[in-house]
Amino acid sequence: MSYIPIVKDSVVNNYDIDSELVIVHASHIMWRPSVLPRLKEKFKVVIDIETNRLVTADAKKSDSYKKLPYNIESSDFGKIFTNSTFRLQKLVEPVVQFQIDNDSEVIMVPYLMFTEWRSRTFTVNSELIADTINHIGGRNDVNKPLYAVINISNEALRSMESVSYIKDRYLEFSDDLSGYIVIPDSFAERNGDPNNLLNLARLVNGLKVAGKEVWVFPIGGFGQVLHALGAKNFGSGIFSKETSSVAMFDSDGEVYPRSDRWIYHPDIFVYVNAVALKKSGYKCDCLACSGDIAPNLSLKKQHDALVRVKAGKAMNSVPESDKLEYVKQKIQNAITIVRDYDRQQFGPRSAYYLEKWLSVVDSALSWPKTVEEEDDLLNELLVEIDSET
Ligand SMILES: [Zn+2]
Repeated sequence: MSYIPIVKDSVVNNYDIDSELVIVHASHIMWRPSVLPRLKEKFKVVIDIETNRLVTADAKKSDSYKKLPYNIESSDFGKIFTNSTFRLQKLVEPVVQFQIDNDSEVIMVPYLMFTEWRSRTFTVNSELIADTINHIGGRNDVNKPLYAVINISNEALRSMESVSYIKDRYLEFSDDLSGYIVIPDSFAERNGDPNNLLNLARLVNGLKVAGKEVWVFPIGGFGQVLHALGAKNFGSGIFSKETSSVAMFDSDGEVYPRSDRWIYHPDIFVYVNAVALKKSGYKCDCLACSGDIAPNLSLKKQHDALVRVKAGKAMNSVPESDKLEYVKQKIQNAITIVRDYDRQQFGPRSAYYLEKWLSVVDSALSWPKTVEEEDDLLNELLVEIDSET
């Protein structure tokens, strides 16, 4: 696998995409009960349990979120931090049961978004992992892989020390987990701090080097860089937002509608004006565009899904050792295209986002690729420190 679509409905069944997995949010299952069975006719489904949204005030929670068997009223939410029996019975057990009942391909450990490793929210995430491992260990009807979720904020991604600490704490449970799902909160892959991009990449690389499977979602084009670094899967919505944000108003519907004036351009990883793109002579050979540019919204959505899956597959077919060079060339090519479009007065106008991605790739080219290499590097650093003191 590589790219996984995050879907809201079963329209994706008609897209003819070469993908075996889709991600759907738990609240969407409650919103439209017919969606899940339809999706399952075609795909394996991973359910995002969305426990990070438990922090939302009751008045702002959608009705479908409130229907989830593990929704906790705001007035009781604090017990998660203080009462381990409450945490087990009201969160861990119903979350695991919900995923089993709905036949999710993986079991996610309940998670909360954290902004700081020196916080009760951070430690409660560790407790939730321990609780879930214990709970599943006591049952014999759970045969799905278990993933811990690292729902990390921009603040927590800011320093390398913070990310290194967080990675090590999560790896303490690695023997009992199949892998990790990283959900960066309010992550700005284009306009954000270059350090955050670099540290997210370090986190993914560190977990991967420790031998664990890593997924990242939602994430846009930068997901391809993370994939080149060893993330097994990365996901995003189709023709919709590429970030997840706990602070955002909880809503059932399309909170971020994109008009059909836009089309996703896979070579530069952004949406561009479809009319200007057509004028530039761009042609797409996907099923929805068939040698032109998809003319309407539903075909543009299909195009979006098809080209993202295709890019993921192309990257996946590159040998592991060549993936970083491959994505580097892709980004360099994108920079050329963006500059050319700028001369034609359309597109993202600045290639700065791509230059940031490129510097992450350049840095990552020298990172350790095995635990042994990581140990050697650490030893070198220690020797250096010793010789200085
Ligand atoms: Zn197309």
